[in-house]
Amino acid sequence: MKSTKIGIDAGGTLIKAVYVENETIHYRSFRSQAMDDVVKWINEHFKNPAICVTGGKSQVLAEKLNMPAKKVIEFDATTQGITYLAYQQEQPIGNNFLFVNVGTGTSMHYVQDSSQERVGGSGIGGGTLLGLAYLTTGMQDYEQIVLGARDGDRGNVDLKVKDIFEGDVPPISGDLTASNFGKTEAMMQRPPSNPDILAAIIGFVGEVIVTISSQMAGQYDAEAIVYVGSSFRSNPLLQEIIEMYAGMIEKTPVFLEQGEYSGAVGALLAID
Ligand code: ADP
Ligand code: MG
Repeated sequence: MKSTKIGIDAGGTLIKAVYVENETIHYRSFRSQAMDDVVKWINEHFKNPAICVTGGKSQVLAEKLNMPAKKVIEFDATTQGITYLAYQQEQPIGNNFLFVNVGTGTSMHYVQDSSQERVGGSGIGGGTLLGLAYLTTGMQDYEQIVLGARDGDRGNVDLKVKDIFEGDVPPISGDLTASNFGKTEAMMQRPPSNPDILAAIIGFVGEVIVTISSQMAGQYDAEAIVYVGSSFRSNPLLQEIIEMYAGMIEKTPVFLEQGEYSGAVGALLAID
């Protein structure tokens, strides 16, 4: 039993918790559906902890805890957490950056001199990945979905610019997606495999997000775009897509280790 500080970000899909032990930050996550597990874990492992909560489900969680908890605004906590993690990981993000939180849905924020403003968002996010994967393949397990996608070929599902400009030189890179899921004729001839479909879904989510966030970064003249959220967990494909497209513009995409815990780290830092 230890007396310590715990920062918790209770999101729509996952509850992220961080605590400090022996001067290192420890990270844990739970399904939001299994909120009682969090309460149990806290009661079993900590004695009189100081707790700070944030996130959409923080009110529900705070009511279940049998001890007082401080509550902070998620967007501000995430800003603090990102700034802290980027500094620790020696990732230069500058004083004005855009951060994109790809959680269940996607939220975009512009940070200037440590204060954030929400500048946009999209319902297309990690929840879309899970939902479309389930609808098209029946798969439900996140790890299996992202693992399956690694063996897939999006070329069997997505129509590329070069597929349209057959034998001609296209005016833009032929490797760009002309139409996500648009290779309908070919799919009717030869149905794509589940891995192909999964890879195309991740491609779709990544391309929508990178397109909107690149435009936002241009509009706000942000120095960097920081991508966080659990949708990048075990999901190199999503990161690669964002890196590839971001490479076409001049804004550097930054991926932080444990970036999905930014909100929880910010909550931890808010405990005096
Ligand atoms: P929120 O704060 O809305 O809960 P997160 O940043 O935690 O969002 O991201 C949730 C997304 O992360 C899910 O929609 C899914 O795509 C992905 N994800 C990563 N790991 C898991 C997991 N173990 N179970 C379910 N979804 C996961
Ligand atoms: Mg979240």
